[in-house]
Amino acid sequence: MSLVEETDEKKINMAHLSIVGSHAINGVAAIHSEIIKNTTFRDFFEMYSDRFQNKTNGITPRRWLLLCNPGLSDVITDKIGEDWVTDLYKLKELKNFITDENFLRDVMKVKHENKMKLAAYLQKTQNIKINCSSIFDIQVKRIHEYKRQLLNILHIIYMYNKIKKNPNAPCVARTVMIGGKAAPGYHMAKLIIKLITAVGNIVNNDPIIGDRLKVVFLENYRVSLAERIMPGADLSEQISTAGTEASGTGNMKFQLNGALTIGTLDGANVEMCEEMGPENIFIFGMTVEEVEELKKKGYNPHTYIEKCPDLKQILEQLRNNYFCPHEPGLFNDIYNTLTHHDTYMLCADFDSYIKCQAKVDELFKNPAEWAKKAVYNIAASGKFSSDRTIAQYAREIWGVEPSDLKLPPPAEAPSE
Ligand SMILES: *Cc1c(COP(=O)(O)O)cnc(C)c1O
Repeated sequence: MSLVEETDEKKINMAHLSIVGSHAINGVAAIHSEIIKNTTFRDFFEMYSDRFQNKTNGITPRRWLLLCNPGLSDVITDKIGEDWVTDLYKLKELKNFITDENFLRDVMKVKHENKMKLAAYLQKTQNIKINCSSIFDIQVKRIHEYKRQLLNILHIIYMYNKIKKNPNAPCVARTVMIGGKAAPGYHMAKLIIKLITAVGNIVNNDPIIGDRLKVVFLENYRVSLAERIMPGADLSEQISTAGTEASGTGNMKFQLNGALTIGTLDGANVEMCEEMGPENIFIFGMTVEEVEELKKKGYNPHTYIEKCPDLKQILEQLRNNYFCPHEPGLFNDIYNTLTHHDTYMLCADFDSYIKCQAKVDELFKNPAEWAKKAVYNIAASGKFSSDRTIAQYAREIWGVEPSDLKLPPPAEAPSE
């Protein structure tokens, strides 16, 4: 609990200093607030238990729906009026229209239009041709090992191998898009980007694969690009190792725009699942408790690799330069990490992830059922408005009443 870290060169522990100097301390999602009390700052929680709170993150519905997705905004407003813009819980009223076939058709028509706009933008800016009837399967966030973009790549290679093995078997077409920046000095993050583009080069140019599977690296991910991506997403990838993502806010942006989520019980995914019901989200993988348990008993990735021939094949392809024939050894660090220092337990969650992705494919074959789940997602996103978050900070921490002054929506619109 010392404010001074007693290493050879002494350092101030800024987190400890912050706790001692603050009257309130909070995590940014319910699960995160529990973890800081039980694990990260356990001793401080015993000392100052009344200081610990939770404030689940949120996003602004003006930028992340009204401004970036005018088509969906209009369809929603036609049904329930415009009060949702400043009171996002009003979106619950959309559940009254869950059997209204015209409404469901309109929601999915807007989604398809948004997919075509996103495809046209990527054609123009990255010269990529995209099959708009494929699942737009998207993971956009900073590149970091804990966020497990690598697990997503393992699934891409799995799908590629499956088509190659049995080219005539029916399959649901996917366009997997991954975007995000790597910190300049973060070698593994840079190498993960290299692997995404290397796998893309093999997959996208294989005539046997055709337009059934495409891999796109979304360059220069930033808010203005996110505003174009969220409206056109079918599937949101939120696949961090349980216990590592404090909240996430990208997860909320996708939900608000009617994408379905495949994710772990981590960060705000836990509360999204509670709000919409587990039947409307694709949850896979170990829980925080299971991760803890496995760490305690001793995790060995080989236990999982030996049980799973598909995973074994993928790792062999990484080892034998299948995706980098002209630069042998390029992905050695990735192979070694997965097989010997698998800190984020990708091998342990691989099988569960693959099986869950198969359920995504099954549902996508039934557009009417998919549409209903998309609407349940939108209807359950009220909690994730930053208006709710900020009002809680105001009342429960700052001791002030939120102003009911009505502010205009942000003036700028995404440029064409
Ligand atoms: C929302 C957002 C993030 C946060 O995404 P997570 O998936 O929650 O990590 C990061 N970068 C940009 C540009 C965003 O818009």
